[in-house]
Amino acid sequence: MGVLTDIAEKQEAEQKLHHLAYFDTLTQIPNRYSFMLRLEADIHLASRQSSALALLFIDLDNFKWTNDSFGHEAGDLLLIEIANRLKARLRKSDTVYRIGGDEFTVIVSSYMDNDSLVQLAEDLVGTIGRTFYVDEHKIKPGASIGISTFPGDAANAHELIKRADSAMFQAKEQGRGQVCFFSSHLEQQRQRDQMIIEGLKEAIQEDELDLHYQPKVMLRPDGFEVIGAEALLRWHRDGEVVSTPDRFIPIAEQSNLICELGYWVIDKSCRQIAEWKEQSLGPLTIAVNLSPRQFKDSQLCDYLDSCLQKYQIQPGELELEITESAVIEDIQGSIKTLTRLQSMGISIAMDDFGTGYSSLGYLKQLPIEVLKIDRSFISTIPNPDDNDAIVKAIFSMANALGLEVVAEGIENQQQLEFLVANNCQVGQGYYFSQPLPVKQFKHWLTAQARPLLSKA
Ligand SMILES: [Mg+2]
Repeated sequence: MGVLTDIAEKQEAEQKLHHLAYFDTLTQIPNRYSFMLRLEADIHLASRQSSALALLFIDLDNFKWTNDSFGHEAGDLLLIEIANRLKARLRKSDTVYRIGGDEFTVIVSSYMDNDSLVQLAEDLVGTIGRTFYVDEHKIKPGASIGISTFPGDAANAHELIKRADSAMFQAKEQGRGQVCFFSSHLEQQRQRDQMIIEGLKEAIQEDELDLHYQPKVMLRPDGFEVIGAEALLRWHRDGEVVSTPDRFIPIAEQSNLICELGYWVIDKSCRQIAEWKEQSLGPLTIAVNLSPRQFKDSQLCDYLDSCLQKYQIQPGELELEITESAVIEDIQGSIKTLTRLQSMGISIAMDDFGTGYSSLGYLKQLPIEVLKIDRSFISTIPNPDDNDAIVKAIFSMANALGLEVVAEGIENQQQLEFLVANNCQVGQGYYFSQPLPVKQFKHWLTAQARPLLSKA
């Protein structure tokens, strides 16, 4: 009897585990994992049979508001109700999944034409939109739906999801409760992005990339001293700007291309440090911006090491700037990387500080030396009613943690005076100089030496 009970219990446990893996615990409909498996399988089948399928990406409108106003329990009940409504409305062959907080997907395994998809999606919006009562509360739910089709819009599951997702965002932008197909407008955007990606790949070979250097100066009550520069990537072809970094960097960031660019920047910066040393300019450090993807790249530390060797430069002459978002995703992994970089002797700056999480808690854990206050704070000082207090608080926090503070985006004398009065050690901005091509940087350095640097 004991053995039999054991077996029965084991089977039950296995069933429960299976259920946990494939089904969403709250709504009891299939989860993201099931969705991915099924979508891959359906796409495989469709390509073999030369048939089509469609993906509906459903996102509830104002769900956060529902949660905030009626409480999480009401929110949960609403999600369960929506899951049931969707299930009831769909054909047997179409399945609904909950893939995230208030995100659902439907795989339509066969359909007649786009009109029938729109009709189905609009039906679902209507079904979701029926008033829902929780206790005495009356909730009016809503949803936006994005649609993408295989093979028309995408070649694989990953792309199909991305297209449906961006169509859903477009639906949101058109006002809530809308249905939107993945559109050629988005497709054009994607093609433009693709051109940038192809162009960038060639740019490295064709020598179209260049670094501009924005001076960084040590702020002292009695004057300044140039201590280095931030290296900033630029893209020119025949003397013309091909694309600006705020456009091409985010596009490159979507793939490993950003690492290739990043390594190019590191190599070039190290070579520049060595060159300046040879010309007896300095000592000057160069700060390089690391993209989140590159920060996570397993080659990073070895590559840096090899560059330091190759150009015979000291690790202290190179500084890396990382953003909060790169670190926050995986604090433990980040600490590991940062510790290794620190042990190599490379100093790390937290860039754009104050725009993201800005939490003291994680800063304490990280082996970093420098905090760069985002330009958005500097642009509004001095302003006693506004964020002077925040900037002062950042300084005192940084001091308490033993961090050097760099203020970027300094544009005028008043900002400078405020920063000096608040013990800001290092500054950067148009007040001193814009980012300059290397030749002009050298001119600036020699021309500005001493007169401008004499008095704050
Ligand atoms: Mg930076």
